[in-house]
Amino acid sequence: RAKHSGRSTFSWYTPELDADAQKRKEIELGLEKALKYDQLKLLYQPQYSLKDGVLKGYEALIRWEHPTRGIIRPDVFIPIAEDTGMIQEIGTWVLNHACREAAMWSDTARRVAVNMSPAQFVAGETQNRVAQALHASGLHPSRLEIEITESLLISNTDAVIETLQQIRSMGVSIAMDDFGTGYSSLSYLSLFPFDKIKIDKAFIHNLGKDPSTDAIVTSIIGLGRSLDVTITAEGVETENQVVLLRAAGCDLVQGYLYGKPDSVDVHETAEPEMAARHEARKVSRKLTM
Ligand code: C2E
Ligand code: MG
Ligand code: MG
Ligand code: MG
Repeated sequence: RAKHSGRSTFSWYTPELDADAQKRKEIELGLEKALKYDQLKLLYQPQYSLKDGVLKGYEALIRWEHPTRGIIRPDVFIPIAEDTGMIQEIGTWVLNHACREAAMWSDTARRVAVNMSPAQFVAGETQNRVAQALHASGLHPSRLEIEITESLLISNTDAVIETLQQIRSMGVSIAMDDFGTGYSSLSYLSLFPFDKIKIDKAFIHNLGKDPSTDAIVTSIIGLGRSLDVTITAEGVETENQVVLLRAAGCDLVQGYLYGKPDSVDVHETAEPEMAARHEARKVSRKLTM
């Protein structure tokens, strides 16, 4: 096949590239309308304490309710919003919306976690936007958590760390998302005092299937304990993963087993059932010991 793709067949034009560029353009233009016509929504995924089964808070996850294409997931449009700069406006909307909604939750102890892209970190502006969202909503800063990935710390380290420190000094907590997927996740832990580490779901997926994954997850949880950092396991889907995470001493769990991203009302209705399941699990564990 390679031989045939010689000079005579070379062409800049390929139908796939064209379709990709077309789709990008469509998303770009659509995103402006999405903001203007209120097509963006936040869904919330619950985070439970593994020790006592208490619902500690929710992660806000953005969705685009496109008028003709249905629900579009963030992996499709966030990277494009980052490239075009529209992430600033979208990110500010997310911050404000999440804080406003969380301020209305009946349980005032529950936290809301908001994802922020590296592209949102503009010197001086990021902490102002966080402060404004808190002020406008009246949400207590201790109830807000910002999730960042280590890619934020790769460039502009000093400025970014200063911004993170300022946000943290307001009483907002900072979580490192997707921990373990980057090149040097460990080294970033010494750069900034994270309040929380979220073990990437790729590790959780392989828990109990692969001894080296089990060892890595157990080590991250141990590291969290010695650094006094809360550890969340994300992407928890099976009871067997819960058994292993519990044995390793993981603090919080989040995943389809506990609830998919949805409206908070839906989760609140399902909560008594979750609490009962937690009790049942504790009993069955006692019986097998
Ligand atoms: P993330 O922050 O790591 O969020 C976790 C992703 O895993 C979410 O995908 C969630 O729906 C999914 N998930 C949760 N539990 C399970 C599970 O048990 N199994 C599996 N297979 N997946 C699970 P989602 O909502 O599609 O979001 C994807 C990514 O988009 C997020 O990854 C985050 O990086 C980004 N994102 C989402 N909302 C926002 C936002 O408001 N702002 C920014 N900047 N990024 C966002
Ligand atoms: Mg996240
Ligand atoms: Mg993650
Ligand atoms: Mg991610």
